Amino acid sequence: MSTIERAEVFVASPGRTFVTLRITTSDGVTGLGDATLNGRELAVAAYLRDHVVPLLIGKDPARIEDMWQYLYRGAYWRRGPVTMTAIAAVDVALWDIKGKVAGLPVYQLLGGRSRDGVMVYGHASGADVPELLDDVARFRDLGYQAVRAQAAVPGVGTYGVRKGTRSSYEPASTALPEEQPWSTPAYLDFAPTYLAAVREHLGFGFHLLHDVHHRLTPLEAAQFGKRVEECRLFWMEDPTPAENQESFRLIRQHTTTPIAVGEVLTSIWDVQTLITEQLIDYVRTTVVHAGGITHLRRIFDLAALYQVRTGSHGATDLSPVTLAAAVHVDLTVPNFGVQEYMEHAAETMEVFRSTVRFDAGALDVADDVPGLGVEYDEKAAAAFPYEPKYLPVARRLDGSVHDW
Ligand SMILES: [Mg+2]
Repeated sequence: MSTIERAEVFVASPGRTFVTLRITTSDGVTGLGDATLNGRELAVAAYLRDHVVPLLIGKDPARIEDMWQYLYRGAYWRRGPVTMTAIAAVDVALWDIKGKVAGLPVYQLLGGRSRDGVMVYGHASGADVPELLDDVARFRDLGYQAVRAQAAVPGVGTYGVRKGTRSSYEPASTALPEEQPWSTPAYLDFAPTYLAAVREHLGFGFHLLHDVHHRLTPLEAAQFGKRVEECRLFWMEDPTPAENQESFRLIRQHTTTPIAVGEVLTSIWDVQTLITEQLIDYVRTTVVHAGGITHLRRIFDLAALYQVRTGSHGATDLSPVTLAAAVHVDLTVPNFGVQEYMEHAAETMEVFRSTVRFDAGALDVADDVPGLGVEYDEKAAAAFPYEPKYLPVARRLDGSVHDW
């Protein structure tokens, strides 16, 4: 029997910080898992190195489901982003190994293709409305069928607007989190107008998305959704924090704008009410933070029963390992909706060699590459030592902390 011989945790910052788990079997087969939790990376690295790696050695890498149960139930402490990200890294690495042993891409192990490619949405943004319109048009010229639109709120600024060059994105100030001002009234006045401007100038021939980023109360979200109905959004994302799943009932009662939730949620229980009461239209849980392929598929299967579609988080705070795993899952599930996609930085791709390809607004993987189709170059990674970086923190104009 092949056993797990080695499990190594790599932390590097090639453009952004990524935590990567590499498992090697006694037969010399390797599997990769992403363990990146943006802004809390070292917590997951320590969880893996100190508490999980010793449990893996000598175990059968083929028993993926059993390993998942062992790590989840065996820890006693359940759920939460650190635990679920660590479990995900192991789970995805074992799927990668299973694919390589079988000589099959992971999507074949999950039941084979349900579609030819995975529709993605890109992130358009602007410091003002004309810049946003240019950026949305740029994504359409690149072949995107779906585009998320965010513009800076005058006098306040906003999340989701890229800084500097168009290739860099958001966050990550060094050492300590940057603090950014927030005004809900200013946002509610302005955001519907720029979404309307996008439709007015660029038409309805593509899917338009918008991320509210947990900034509103349920009632404010209901008002917002109602106001933008004529824009026919593909979705409004995270209109309000989802700790209270029931609060989405109020939003639902007032607007037909579709709702997407779940990028910060880590388990099927975190989305259970949202799905079974059909309070959302898209579930945004992702491979790396929701317990890996094994658990994500369980969430997506539950969602399928209730006509909720998938729309996994896929920003560049997830490594190319997660992006590849997401594409393998997305290719197979019957209820796929859309996949978030941002191109990784050139430095990132020096470290991760991925076979994921973008064409005509969709991602795909090669049919003849076994496993996930990603390799990690630790020599290249050595040139990018860990640098602490954090997402910004939002404060209202009176100085109090708001939801990021
Ligand atoms: Mg989001």
